Amino acid sequence: MPSRTKTGRAGTSASPRAARLRFRQPATRAPDHMVVATRRLRPPRDGAREAPPDLSSFSLRPGRASRAMTQTITPRCNICGGTDFVDLPGRPKVRCAACGSLERARVCALHIAHTLALGSGSRVLHFAPERGLQALLRDRVGAANYRAVDIAPENYPGLGVQPFDLCRDVFSLPERGYDLIVMNHVLEHIECNYSAVLLRLARALTDGGALLFSVPIDGDDFWDHIVTGSPDEKAERFGPFRHYRNFGRAFIGDTLGMLFRMPERYDLLGAFTEGDLVRANIRPHHWRKFTGASVFVVRRQDVRI
Ligand SMILES: [Zn+2]
Repeated sequence: MPSRTKTGRAGTSASPRAARLRFRQPATRAPDHMVVATRRLRPPRDGAREAPPDLSSFSLRPGRASRAMTQTITPRCNICGGTDFVDLPGRPKVRCAACGSLERARVCALHIAHTLALGSGSRVLHFAPERGLQALLRDRVGAANYRAVDIAPENYPGLGVQPFDLCRDVFSLPERGYDLIVMNHVLEHIECNYSAVLLRLARALTDGGALLFSVPIDGDDFWDHIVTGSPDEKAERFGPFRHYRNFGRAFIGDTLGMLFRMPERYDLLGAFTEGDLVRANIRPHHWRKFTGASVFVVRRQDVRI
């Protein structure tokens, strides 16, 4: 792990109410940008105050792949085609041995393949670029239209990554400048207002553009710390990866959901088939439950503020 992390400077059980909720049958592939939702929250009536969405009950029943499905489909990385996956601590066979992809990058690749209108000439901004995903995106839109950035570009030798400090440089992004922005597991590292960053990124999208992002979601509780101290002191307090915030599952509606109109339920089966997910080695417990592999899809029109 680099001494500086990503583009920043530098658990508990489910509620009883939520645990009782059942999921509806999955919808067929979504026809539009509602890519992870079977239903979106209604827009407010004229003059009506829009209530924050209650997303705390997202998902507490993980999806299950049929035994036949898991036995007959050979997982294959949908980014590089690799079939060998290696273990991470507590997470068996999740990292592609060839390109290094994790589930969140492969969910992004599913969106790129199935739900986003991304083609040659589309403009892409990629934070903390995953190696396999950057190659896929570069091939898709052309090198001239692909921009990779990070606060520590030296951690990405040979990828042409530009220096970018989200807390300062986000304001320099051109309005309606990008058709796709990808940012996986970056927000937990930044030492500034994550809401301001997300809203400014949304303004950098074209009218048809999409922001794909994921964050750590560990347990129910949300927490957020911006503190003084040396990097070593912060590493001692927040761990070697220096995660300064966690997006608790019980408060997604009260945090991200106050910024953007969000799906009421996280349901990858609303956008993809079981076969798509098993083939891309996305484990069933990520299908209908907010986890660190959940990829949020946001458009300009989803901004509530
Ligand atoms: Zn791969």
